[in-house]
Amino acid sequence: MKSIISEPIPLSIPTLGGNEWTYIKECLDTNWVSSVGSYVTAFEESIASYSGAPYAIATVNGTAALHICLILAGVERDDYVIVPNITFIASANSVAYAGANPLFIDIEEGSWQMDLNLLEEFLREQTEEGASGRVYKKDGKRIKAIMPVHVLGNMAEMDKLIEISRRYGLVIIEDSTEALGSRYKGQHAGTFGELGCFSFNGNKIITTGGGGMIVTSDEEKAQRAKHLTTQAKADPFAYVHDEIGYNYRLVNILAAMGLAQMEQLDEFKAVRTRNADIYRQELSGLAEISFQNIHPEVEVNNWLFTIRSSHQESLIKKLLDNKVQTRPLWVPMNQLPMFGHLPYIQSEDISAKVHSECLSLPSSSSLKEEEVRYVAQLIKSCIK
Ligand SMILES: *Cc1c(COP(=O)(O)O)cnc(C)c1O
Repeated sequence: MKSIISEPIPLSIPTLGGNEWTYIKECLDTNWVSSVGSYVTAFEESIASYSGAPYAIATVNGTAALHICLILAGVERDDYVIVPNITFIASANSVAYAGANPLFIDIEEGSWQMDLNLLEEFLREQTEEGASGRVYKKDGKRIKAIMPVHVLGNMAEMDKLIEISRRYGLVIIEDSTEALGSRYKGQHAGTFGELGCFSFNGNKIITTGGGGMIVTSDEEKAQRAKHLTTQAKADPFAYVHDEIGYNYRLVNILAAMGLAQMEQLDEFKAVRTRNADIYRQELSGLAEISFQNIHPEVEVNNWLFTIRSSHQESLIKKLLDNKVQTRPLWVPMNQLPMFGHLPYIQSEDISAKVHSECLSLPSSSSLKEEEVRYVAQLIKSCIK
């Protein structure tokens, strides 16, 4: 096939076409560059009003946001936190930072989200009420929380998940780092559980270079989140700190960038949705290719369009040979050396299959329609 596209096509890069320069320049001009400043508050307010969460607290990145949420949820040393087996490493790492252990649940074949039937069956059959809460029968260790991950901006059936978490007395911390702009029954991702987190890493739907956000409807938790992310400072003047805190606040310069990005979020989502629709159109009907199942009640942000095919290897080669960036989905957590010894609940190890068959396609907010069609043509030519 003759290429009409001369530049390499990246996977998911920032689009910086709004007020980024203006707002950042104002930080520099006014000398408000650090962790205090009006843009931090404005960015928090913009995330809160967009998502419908009463409180939002900006952090240095999404991983730090998850770490703080685990502390706020009361997760303690040696507790278990339930995490899907297919996720980006940061979900499981944050649990380890809190001194706890992730307990992995396999994903569902179609949606690639945590399998809620497997979760329920596990809680019903392999856990029991102990003195301190729900415990894993095998070793008596407490299970404190569930960290659902809205993988690729898609969501699980949240009603069912919330019901399960209540029935077994578990706190929900949503890793909604990929799901800014996604909703279930009209309610924004990150606002279903006690706590939710967003990420503004360079590849996410909006970016501050690096950044994150905690959202919650609990005022006390919101105050403590601010406290913990600012070194647990108990006095604004004297250096008094009342517990071990963290230097996890987002700086004003980056919040300024975040505010400018928020102004463009709906536009970014619209472009990504148009492009995802074109991918689906172009590639539907090919027996060798399937898509992520989106629950009818989910409005997905289409952050990173990903397909599944038994031809994963040859498709990746074809795309890379033609300067189209693509990546497989993450290595399942149970296959990683740090986490291999931890419980992994599965019956058919869907994670391994999805990992060996999925590949993500270019999805940037600046991606043009003809580029999407070009990528689709490459894929079609490869499996014919
Ligand atoms: C991006 C991401 C994170 C972490 O975000 P950072 O801002 O990079 O720390 C956590 N979990 C998932 C699933 C992610 O995709």
